[in-house]
Amino acid sequence: MHKSTYTKDFNDLWEKERELKSRWGNILFCVAYLVGYPATALLYLIQNDPAFKQILAAELILSGIIIILLILHFRGKIKAQTASFLANMTLVPVHAYILAEVPHASYDRASLNMTLGLMFAYFVLRWPLNYSIILTTSIFIIFPPALYYGHPSYFYQFFSQGGLFFFLGQMLFPFIMYFHESRKKHEFFYQYSLGKQNELLEKQKLIAENATLAKSEFLSTMSHEIRTPLNGIVGIVHLLEENKSRDEEEKELIQTLKFSATHLMAVVNEILDFNKINSNHVKLHPVNFNLDELSRNLYNSFLPRASEKELELIFESSPELPELYGDQVRLSQIITNLVHNAIKFTDKGFVRFSVNEVSRKADFIKLEFVVADSGIGISKDQQSNVFEIFTQVKSLVKRQDGGTGLGLAISKELVRLFGGELELKSELGKGSAFSFQIELQYAAKISPAPKSEKIAMPALNAAIKVLLVDDNATNLIFATTLLKRKDILFDLASDGKQAFEKYLTGGYDLIFMDLRMPVMDGFEATKLIREKDQDIPIIALTASAFEDERERALANGFSDYLVKPFLPPDFYKIIYTHIKTDTN
Ligand code: ATP
Ligand code: MG
Repeated sequence: MHKSTYTKDFNDLWEKERELKSRWGNILFCVAYLVGYPATALLYLIQNDPAFKQILAAELILSGIIIILLILHFRGKIKAQTASFLANMTLVPVHAYILAEVPHASYDRASLNMTLGLMFAYFVLRWPLNYSIILTTSIFIIFPPALYYGHPSYFYQFFSQGGLFFFLGQMLFPFIMYFHESRKKHEFFYQYSLGKQNELLEKQKLIAENATLAKSEFLSTMSHEIRTPLNGIVGIVHLLEENKSRDEEEKELIQTLKFSATHLMAVVNEILDFNKINSNHVKLHPVNFNLDELSRNLYNSFLPRASEKELELIFESSPELPELYGDQVRLSQIITNLVHNAIKFTDKGFVRFSVNEVSRKADFIKLEFVVADSGIGISKDQQSNVFEIFTQVKSLVKRQDGGTGLGLAISKELVRLFGGELELKSELGKGSAFSFQIELQYAAKISPAPKSEKIAMPALNAAIKVLLVDDNATNLIFATTLLKRKDILFDLASDGKQAFEKYLTGGYDLIFMDLRMPVMDGFEATKLIREKDQDIPIIALTASAFEDERERALANGFSDYLVKPFLPPDFYKIIYTHIKTDTN
């Protein structure tokens, strides 16, 4: 890597990093000279060398300077690198003085000591290149003339008695520092680039996550907003349909309207469902169930569509399957999606649904579900696409039944929730087989829950009065029509504030309260009402498909909830449940 690839940011960082990494080595160097040097003077004392005083004086000056440098370093005034560099620079004249002015019987020991000192420096010192060049140059400039001009004979003596090795070693010093520096710098650069890359990836990941979140929020808000008016439309279409005194043309128009509205509702619900599964809002609700019974019911529900297209509908199952424990609603949803597709994309031949036992363990049974058909099939390059949301294989055959391309995406996610993987084998023109293997627990051996008694819908004896709170006019019309039919009295309010004011005038037996409204929302209005009255049933009207909002409603003083869009029986059922338990 060439130097120029290092950016300024990186170089600044590297300066700090280098100081941090080399700090203790550089300090160690200073301390070693601070303590070790005066100790060598002692050797002269022991040997009664007359040079003792000179040497001790020079070395004490050196130690004094090193102490000052260390103090400066520890006070944060200078870097450890600078401290050891300046210590070395002080060492140069001290050495020059000792070499030139202290008479040496032989330079053997001095040059050996200096060479060992240099080795020590190789190991512990880590400097920028310019420091080592300055040091080496000053040694080359100062030592020879100092020796030569003092006593020419000392000069030759020093060189021949080991001084040459010291000079050679000193010449290598800048190269060694450079070598260390560039190697460490490269390493650091890789770390730095990886760090940068990680940072970038983190950022991109965050952007992607936010985008996914925004997408799923957008989808659920949109579907939510669509569901609210759709509730009114579907409800009113039902009411219109019940009025028998219409001519044929009108009846047909209403049928078409009903078909479109129901289809739209199914699409919106599918989007919401997919979104819920995708954002981990869906949990499986396992119950005890009998797989044979479930399959038989499913078979019966597919039969009309299959016979309409003159397809042979086959159901096969491994014998003697035990009672199971699992989310049968979601399991049926997967199978229904697959079988509907099979029927939809097959023009002649068969559609076969089979359940095979794969293995049995102490706690669970592994089952394979296969839905196969003799239909148009899916080409190899389309096979991975069909599981994507909104993907449909463009086929030349015109289909009467449109669909949105969500069925397989939802099924795949659901199978995953069950811990399996939805797989596809298909050949264009020959047919397709979708399959998945999942493990299901055996049914818990508990006495079957008593069948919940059907709620009778008696004519209410006493007149009851309901307060309807919703800002959507169509929904109000739908609900009031339903109330009128049962001769139930009612009042209307279009926001929470109005609702609370109406409530204060009194006389209501039950309140239907939309959650999201202008001026004051349903939560706030309910809170105000609950401060006055703990008992009156308040039913939340929510268009949210998310359980969170329903749970939030129940936790905030609502007695129950009704999910929009609702049909007349749901509406009546909730009134009777709450009025009945109330009067009992
Ligand atoms: P939706 O299920 O949302 O009403 P859809 O059936 O078109 O619409 P998916 O169930 O997701 O959507 O299927 C996606 C596409 O995969 C289909 O449009 C069809 O092209 C192809 N496909 C699915 N099942 C089969 C099958 N059994 N045979 C041939 N093609 C199939
Ligand atoms: Mg489908």
